[in-house]
Amino acid sequence: MRTQVGIVGAGPAGLMLAHLLHLQGIESVVIELRDRDYVEKRVRAGLLEQNTVQLLTESGVGQRLQREAMHHTGNYLRTPEWTHHLDMEKLVGRSIWIYGQQEVVKDLIAARLEYDDPLLFEVADVAVHDLDSERPRITYTHEDAQQELDCDVIAGCDGFHGICRGAIPDGVLTSYERAYDFGWLGILADAAPATDELIYAWHPNGFSLYSMRSPTVSRLYLQVPADEQLDDWSDERIWAELQTRQASEGWQVNEGPIVDKGITPMRSFVCEPMQYGRLFLAGDAAHIVPPTGAKGLNLAMHDVHVLCEALVDLLRSGNRTGVDGYSERCLRRVWRRTSRTT
Ligand SMILES: Cc1cc2nc3c(=O)[nH]c(=O)nc-3n(C[C@H](O)[C@H](O)[C@H](O)COP(=O)(O)OP(=O)(O)OC[C@H]3O[C@@H](n4cnc5c(N)ncnc54)[C@H](O)[C@@H]3O)c2cc1C
Repeated sequence: MRTQVGIVGAGPAGLMLAHLLHLQGIESVVIELRDRDYVEKRVRAGLLEQNTVQLLTESGVGQRLQREAMHHTGNYLRTPEWTHHLDMEKLVGRSIWIYGQQEVVKDLIAARLEYDDPLLFEVADVAVHDLDSERPRITYTHEDAQQELDCDVIAGCDGFHGICRGAIPDGVLTSYERAYDFGWLGILADAAPATDELIYAWHPNGFSLYSMRSPTVSRLYLQVPADEQLDDWSDERIWAELQTRQASEGWQVNEGPIVDKGITPMRSFVCEPMQYGRLFLAGDAAHIVPPTGAKGLNLAMHDVHVLCEALVDLLRSGNRTGVDGYSERCLRRVWRRTSRTT
């Protein structure tokens, strides 16, 4: 098989890149380790910044988002003594939207399937080869058959634990990493949010965040020690701690059945450069910021927007200016977001 852009990973970065390339008439093949159901149900991000919403809308995959997303003009800061509303729209002219990452993924998969471009789930044994040549290759197994995909370029959109970054020869990348001594215990609950906008709360017991995914689903986080065991947190204990850390006079967190819970370690990671030969890394494959900043998906969307423009120039006219500057342009934004959250 042959394609112009081989994309490893069908998370937000890989799917959005494939979509943007399609709009420019550039062929791609997307290969994904997991099955469709898994990627469409993976609960992660939910806060979309203005640039991301604009990109999704302008590229024609924002119809459901425009109907269903919750638009917030600011958020609340809370301590046990006071609550303050931060009106971002008034202060900086920017606002945010609440729309689950899995919904973005569903919309992008639906668009891809509608125009019938290759999107392969449940591939295995993925490896990338000849990255410093004009014809890099991806090998993988799909439906029990070994496959080889010849590409003009490869986009490594396979997340932090993917294989693309590790395929870059030793000595090319410089990695910066910081692990924090706390994690986030996150829950998704069938409970109408008791707040119209996010509440970032400081408490002597630790930080907590009141967020939501829809008018009937709440998403809440508790700061916990990095080595905390999920088994030690019964649903009752989680709700009690949320009520304590979010407490405000005459007001309560709305409780309901918890449908998903997990502990996410907090880590910042950046690798430089985000490219080697004809392999370009995008999104979590190249950098992660702790979910406290709600930036990862937004940065991934920015990466692939920049990468798409650069690849169009390269593949249509051989112009290398965009691809040569890809890493520097994306990392400028990544470092600004990373230092804010570390
Ligand atoms: C709890 C939590 C809350 C978050 N909240 C926010 C938020 O509010 N706002 C925000 O902007 N960000 C947030 N983030 C970060 C955001 O979820 C990530 O930054 C985002 O998923 C990055 O997208 P990606 O496509 O780069 O990587 P991923 O979403 O990790 O996708 C990579 C894909 O590659 C696939 N893959 C891996 N290895 C291979 C392989 N060998 N071959 C083929 N496929 C492979 C994976 O299965 C996956 O589907 C949060 C993260 C967490 C954990």
